[in-house]
Amino acid sequence: MGTSVLSDGHVTDLFQYHDGILHCEGVSAERLVAEYGTPLYVYSENAILERYRAFAGAFAALDPLIAYSVKANGNLAVLRLLAQAGAGADIVSGGELHRTRLAGIPSERTVFSGVGKTITELAAALAANIYAFNVESAGELRMLSELAVTMKTRAPIALRVNPDVETLTPHHYTATGHKQTKFGIPYEDAERLYHEAAQLPGIIVRGVDVHIGSQILDVEPYRLSVTRILELVERLRKSGIDLEFIDVGGGFGISYDGESGPAPSDFAAAIVPLLEHTGMRTIFEPGRYIVGPAGILLTRVLFMKHMGGKTFVITDAGMNDLLRPSHYSSYHRVEPAVRTPGRETVPVDVVGPICESGDFLALDRPIPRVEPGELLAIGATGAYGFSMASTYNARPRPAEVIVAGDAHKLARSRETYDDLVRGEAELLE
Ligand SMILES: *Cc1c(COP(=O)(O)O)cnc(C)c1O
Repeated sequence: MGTSVLSDGHVTDLFQYHDGILHCEGVSAERLVAEYGTPLYVYSENAILERYRAFAGAFAALDPLIAYSVKANGNLAVLRLLAQAGAGADIVSGGELHRTRLAGIPSERTVFSGVGKTITELAAALAANIYAFNVESAGELRMLSELAVTMKTRAPIALRVNPDVETLTPHHYTATGHKQTKFGIPYEDAERLYHEAAQLPGIIVRGVDVHIGSQILDVEPYRLSVTRILELVERLRKSGIDLEFIDVGGGFGISYDGESGPAPSDFAAAIVPLLEHTGMRTIFEPGRYIVGPAGILLTRVLFMKHMGGKTFVITDAGMNDLLRPSHYSSYHRVEPAVRTPGRETVPVDVVGPICESGDFLALDRPIPRVEPGELLAIGATGAYGFSMASTYNARPRPAEVIVAGDAHKLARSRETYDDLVRGEAELLE
């Protein structure tokens, strides 16, 4: 039995060392990079499925719609897998709608969130007949109603209500449930706006939506926000507006440091009792929980450098491939993909090739000494890894592969230089 790289203890750890070599399911990291190169995102199909089932199982008493948050990882192979497992989708753009349709996620299992939907995106989603628009402003509500009228249809909506709950997320960029954010409708305005919505000719009032942030490790903010939302539901019911569903949002945190994090059953214990007897359909929008620990990023060490008393490990993956460390100061585990006995552990900065001082994957991190040419695995990068990747510094985005047992296949080809100049090169005189 190998040692775990990513386990949070909820599901089988499918990234393990066998004889000192890191494997994803039955395939070694060395095998994968020999075939697909580096940097390389590697996803475990069975980890994704186990995590999806663990989440669905914890909330089974509610028979919820699990609308997977596409922005966490929108790879078509991942979406297809989740579609086949029964998931729906939470989308935040017309591009994500396009992805879900290609992957075969049914529109009746799709909800559309986001503060800045354009009329083109709203029209595409209306034409696709999605289950609900999670509306985030009065302006969006009125625009959607007018659009639906011109399209001779009605738009099913939920208002995304901001419950004004403080959430402790690791970075303030990922907290969305308190008053001073751009997200949602202020709690005290929601009732009035529901009554306006009910009068609008192009709108069907269908539910209520809340999403309080991301990477939340505490159940209490969920309990509080669901409680506040159910109070609103009750007031609306008394004034003649009956809602069909409550969408609790996403944000369920994972363990990045390999220690045990809260399990879906912990979140379920806090909120299922509140929701069980409401008679409403429940929707969840998990992203990170499903895919985060189901992926790693493999990168090759290019050079070592000693400067100012520090040791720098320079890798072929940078902030354009994995933005989270520099954008959110996020912690990801860094492990050699091949363990060599007798190597001392030294604190290093693991940095990329990008011309920015903020280009790092880990700072002051004790890892076993590595040599140029060796492989490092960056843990729990299945969520907000590739999906936040860019081509900054004219670097083609990495390949993505998906592993199931002993089988592996490309889920996205490595970009080429031609991909980089598409839309430009053909315009040169
Ligand atoms: C990002 C997002 C999610 C998913 O968040 P996770 O932390 O990945 O679970 C769900 N709903 C909305 C509205 C979001 O913006």
